[in-house]
Amino acid sequence: MKKKMIIIGGGISGIYLSILLKKYLDIDVVVLEANDKPLKKLLATGNGRCNLSNKDLDKAHYDGDIKPWVNDIIHDFDIVEALKDIGLYTKYMGNLLYPYSESAKAVQTLFLNRAEEYGVKIICDEEVLSIKKSKHGYFIHAAHQDYQADYVTIACGTPAGKLSGMKDRRTLFNSLKVDYRPMRPTITQLITTPAYKKLKGVRMKGEFTLNGHTEKGELLFTDYGISGIAVMVLSRYARPGDRILCDFYPEFTDQELYSIIHTLQTMSGPYDGLVHPKLVPILENKKNPVSFLKHLELTVKELRGEEFAQADLGGLMISNFNESFEFINYPHLYATGEILDITGDCGGYNIHFALASAYSVYKEVSKTIQ
Ligand SMILES: Cc1cc2nc3c(=O)[nH]c(=O)nc-3n(C[C@H](O)[C@H](O)[C@H](O)COP(=O)(O)OP(=O)(O)OC[C@H]3O[C@@H](n4cnc5c(N)ncnc54)[C@H](O)[C@@H]3O)c2cc1C
Repeated sequence: MKKKMIIIGGGISGIYLSILLKKYLDIDVVVLEANDKPLKKLLATGNGRCNLSNKDLDKAHYDGDIKPWVNDIIHDFDIVEALKDIGLYTKYMGNLLYPYSESAKAVQTLFLNRAEEYGVKIICDEEVLSIKKSKHGYFIHAAHQDYQADYVTIACGTPAGKLSGMKDRRTLFNSLKVDYRPMRPTITQLITTPAYKKLKGVRMKGEFTLNGHTEKGELLFTDYGISGIAVMVLSRYARPGDRILCDFYPEFTDQELYSIIHTLQTMSGPYDGLVHPKLVPILENKKNPVSFLKHLELTVKELRGEEFAQADLGGLMISNFNESFEFINYPHLYATGEILDITGDCGGYNIHFALASAYSVYKEVSKTIQ
């Protein structure tokens, strides 16, 4: 009789794994998905364009226990070739990898077409509530039915973005008694004091420092505080009460910027060519405009909530696993994707990891099933 794999979660990690298993192995695969449709979160990625990976996969871009074997899984995965193998052609734009279509919707369609073509069974509106070891594999208790499987993969992602449910997955973890790090939102906007409401919509490039971490890039002022890619990246290190230091003119020293402003002040509209028009009234009221432009300090009041986050820190601890994401205490039980306590920066790192970890589980299963 054919062996059976149940994958808990129809996100990109679970669906990719299901495609590989059915394409290359003689195995039955069922995906149980809590949402009414699989791959909902994927649609929101990369502002609808789906940023799949990044040329710079340095481990500094990942939070969590990046053991050498985890780093190898991330680096050894040739994402361009792997996606080509299932018919998805990609291109780098700068460091960022996108599908040629630049459409997350197209990627969703392609993944679901492949899954159907290879015979993956996807059951939606079926939330898994607990997993137990049984005599010949695993017993899965779900909202509408119970299931039995030889192999199980937990690919249930995190509540970030409010697109994969809002439950923190503790019930599922507790049914197995495994170790996990509590989850908290990351890659998200920051609510700050002060919040420069009048600057809402103004984007400024610069260097931003929080708790010793500096990020170059863009900051977007909002009515609650700050957003923008540089801020989303730094949110990984942010806690309420922390201060974020903004240098909007890192290419100039204080003295140089002071001289430029001093020269311009001899003309009418001294700030016009230098800053966004919305900044002019603020600078006109400052005794020391250079201090605002190079040393602005904002205090983090809060991180914006789970529904605004692109990922969650925390999840299933890496110490639970052997070197292919199989639980040490549970043979043939695996985990992949964002539910693992590995979280990437903004810039394609999380989808890369979701796919690379799925590939690693496929390789491991293929060794036992031939
Ligand atoms: C707005 C937004 C933009 C993003 N942009 C990018 C980007 O451009 N590039 C990038 O790399 N990353 C991006 N990310 C992060 C990336 O989308 C995730 O890291 C990635 O989708 C994780 O894939 P996954 O399959 O592990 O989990 P998910 O995509 O979260 O999928 C998990 C699935 O499991 C289901 N599930 C959960 N619990 C259960 C249960 N108990 N039973 C059954 N099913 C369950 C969920 O409904 C969900 O469908 C973004 C995230 C958001 C929210």
